[in-house]
Amino acid sequence: MNQTNDRAIFEGIDQPKLEWAKEWLLSTKKLYINGQWVDSAGDEIITSTNPANGLINGSFQVAAPEDVDRAVAAARAAFDDENGAWRQVTRKERAKILRKISALLLEHQAEIATLETLDNGKLYTESYKDDVQEASDVFEYYAGWTDKYYGENNPVEGNFLSVTTRDPIGVCAQIVPFNFPIDMAAWKLAPALAMGNTIILKPSEETSFSAIRLFEIIHEANILPPGVINLVLGAGSVGSHMSRHMNVDKVTFTGSTAVGKQLVRDSADSNLKPVSLELGGKSPNILFSDAPNLDAAIERSFYALFTHKAEKCSSPTRLFVQRDIYDQVVNRLAEMANSYKLGDPFDPTTDQGAQVSKKQMERILGYIESGKEQGARVAAGGERDLTGANANGYFIRPTIFADVHNKMKIAQEEIFGPVLCVIPFDSEEEVVEMANDTIYGLAAGLWTGDMSRAHRVANKLQAGQVFVNRYGCYDVASPFGGWKQSGWGKEFAIHSLASYTKAKAIWFAY
Ligand code: NAD
Repeated sequence: MNQTNDRAIFEGIDQPKLEWAKEWLLSTKKLYINGQWVDSAGDEIITSTNPANGLINGSFQVAAPEDVDRAVAAARAAFDDENGAWRQVTRKERAKILRKISALLLEHQAEIATLETLDNGKLYTESYKDDVQEASDVFEYYAGWTDKYYGENNPVEGNFLSVTTRDPIGVCAQIVPFNFPIDMAAWKLAPALAMGNTIILKPSEETSFSAIRLFEIIHEANILPPGVINLVLGAGSVGSHMSRHMNVDKVTFTGSTAVGKQLVRDSADSNLKPVSLELGGKSPNILFSDAPNLDAAIERSFYALFTHKAEKCSSPTRLFVQRDIYDQVVNRLAEMANSYKLGDPFDPTTDQGAQVSKKQMERILGYIESGKEQGARVAAGGERDLTGANANGYFIRPTIFADVHNKMKIAQEEIFGPVLCVIPFDSEEEVVEMANDTIYGLAAGLWTGDMSRAHRVANKLQAGQVFVNRYGCYDVASPFGGWKQSGWGKEFAIHSLASYTKAKAIWFAY
């Protein structure tokens, strides 16, 4: 199966650094505050396990509230000091720093990809080619923006000159999820640094090692003044202290909708800091029977969901298929799912790695049971994979549910795992209504050879990204972000820059 899955080909990339990682993971990792690796003020330690085999990877110290305070104070001082080192860094030098981080990520690509796979369970090739590569690309891209984000000359009436300036927003708390740890960190760090902000980053407690390594590499390169970037580690309570902090000017978050809503409440209850949210999804993917290349459409729809073991916010989890091709599509999807190989994510012949944790695996299995109870038909998978060594890890067979009704729980709630709901439809009107019948609005796809229909349906779909005849296109030059309960604001392109700056209108009387 992996021959048609370009993410699983193990060529032209560095071998994993497993021996190096074993050695590196021996020490309990610390927090990075004000340019130094420091011990937590508390005594809590989190031990992280490898989801592919249940073995312990390593451990890190959890930040106590005093540590978050220290990190915020360091970021505050680095930002506020008008004569401080960060203010002395010119835009041109900032660009050089971002380019350097981009290059360092590539230099350490195999190391970071190895840590990512050990921690997260995704394929090494996915970590290497998608996550670390994109993280590097994002730094490179934003390096080009440090001196290109202009203010405005406002066309006001009367004898005035009115200009809008853009200032960095200040101290940014950045909270990222477990599914694309290094990549999501880059999405947030790069534009914030490009605009001259200071940062406290918190990775997910499930997957903290790649960010720790990135901070180490940046520290060793000695390219940023103390306090500009800080790293705090731990679970939700650490993030919560960040989001409620009176000295934090902005929160950027990628994660679940439930936590996103909490962050909005935290903002309201503290200093009303702006909050950017990239949240969950339940994205529709509509396959009309006049799709130009049906086989390619089915394959892409399959991989767009099941790569990265379907722990992707924008996954096309609801596939709507026109009734005259429904059986053919379900059969082909089931065939692909049945031939998928699950196992060691470092094995180049593996198609799908392990779910990130036992908790996530059990949550997904709960949804699979609910689908069965509500009458959906299991066309493939539908269970945990307990074959051989996989029994020690958290593997779930790629699951295809046929005969799904859009009102079923599996079609309405975000599962965040390898479960595809295939739903039949008859008319364009009916399918658009079902596609939009969700609290989410992250992404949507459609496949058709009729360009009038493509325009019509794309316009009607309520989503932040709509993919026509190719689901899942991502590029830092194109904005990414959701509608409805999938989020607030956009990341990527110029949009991230707007969210890391504050506008000021200045009036001059003639
Ligand atoms: P999560 O919401 O459980 O956790 C995300 C981060 O928030 C973690 O670092 C966690 O420690 C922290 N956190 C938890 N509770 C908090 C609180 N009360 N205050 C502050 N921080 C808190 O999400 P997850 O399980 O790590 O990731 C999966 C979710 O992320 C899915 O819903 C997925 O759709 C979403 N996601 C969205 C995008 C996007 O761009 N829209 C991208 C990736 C993932």
